[in-house]
Amino acid sequence: MIYLDYSATTPMSYDVLETYNTVAKDFIGNANSLHALGIKSKKLYESSKKQISDIFNVLESEIVFTSGATESNNMALIGASFANSKKGNHIIVSKLEHPSIYKICDYLKTQGFDISYVNNDKDGLIDFEDLKNLMRPTTILVSICAVNSEVGVRQPLKMIRQVIHKENENTLFHSDMTQAVGKVVVNLHDVDMASFSGHKIYGPKGIGVFYKTSKVNVVPIIIGSTKEDNLRPGTIPLPLIASLSKAVRLSTMDLDRKENFIRRLNEKICNELSKLDGIKINKTKISIPHILNISLDEIKPETFIHALEEYEIYVGTNTACSSGELSTSVMAIYNDKKRATTTIRISLSHLTTTDEVNKFLNSFKIIYEKLHNLVSRD
Ligand code: PMP
Repeated sequence: MIYLDYSATTPMSYDVLETYNTVAKDFIGNANSLHALGIKSKKLYESSKKQISDIFNVLESEIVFTSGATESNNMALIGASFANSKKGNHIIVSKLEHPSIYKICDYLKTQGFDISYVNNDKDGLIDFEDLKNLMRPTTILVSICAVNSEVGVRQPLKMIRQVIHKENENTLFHSDMTQAVGKVVVNLHDVDMASFSGHKIYGPKGIGVFYKTSKVNVVPIIIGSTKEDNLRPGTIPLPLIASLSKAVRLSTMDLDRKENFIRRLNEKICNELSKLDGIKINKTKISIPHILNISLDEIKPETFIHALEEYEIYVGTNTACSSGELSTSVMAIYNDKKRATTTIRISLSHLTTTDEVNKFLNSFKIIYEKLHNLVSRD
């Protein structure tokens, strides 16, 4: 099997799985219980949280565990919008966001919030001038992803925040960092709020992080009884949290070496595939190498993905969360409908081998030639 869909989800690393098993077996107490077993669990919870906050150089109280990035995005956008609705009702997001952000915006529209979509340039970089012009005294929140999930474009968050603050010091800045953490260095001090997920960084599925600086007020979107964490009450899922902590530590190590290796694989694929008639590589100056988006001329992505599957090769459509639809990111960057409806996403990892890439390229060429001939004859 050749897995090239690491941006949809990653396999759990063996070490992380071992942590999960040990904690699930040996820490049976509810971290909210007052007895010794509860205290033992609470201690592990606190040390896991401390490890994550130390890695990102933020306060422990600024980390909230969620079920994943979708929930974190909900906490950020809904929580901050409702908490700040007296200051204004205007929100700005980019045209390169994950579908979860757009769905939340659709909901916020029904609650009286006004959403603007900031433009980007031909490389996918946020258009600073457009952002400046969109900003209003009533803009309470801007949300821009650190790395786009389809074309992998990476935004300069620090500079974007400067543009925002020049226009309105009170506007909060959130970034969906789900495709950035574990791939590139992220600085949580560049933003007021951030989201990411365990299953994209070789951690378990069903756990994520919502980061918010202490000064930011958000209303809880989940109501419950436990006091430990106002924003996310309920029994603490300790095996998930302890293994997420390990996944964060392992995945943020050695990033340069991993990225250089992945870049070489990415370049090899681009060199080979760009020789094929009709193939378009959707990659810009600011794309990270882990995510490689390709348009297949006239071929339907589903057909191509299933053909690759016959060779036990697994790649993705634009995002796992919007299979079969037009790629909004390719559209936002290239403004070409045909290009945006025929995309597949190859996502690479430091676990990918050169041999896997060679086999993938061989199979790709065989399938492409066959299907391209068929559609060209139609
Ligand atoms: N944001 C981005 C950028 C993503 O890539 C994803 C996962 N495809 C999500 C949010 C949603 O993450 P989760 O599955 O953890 O809810």
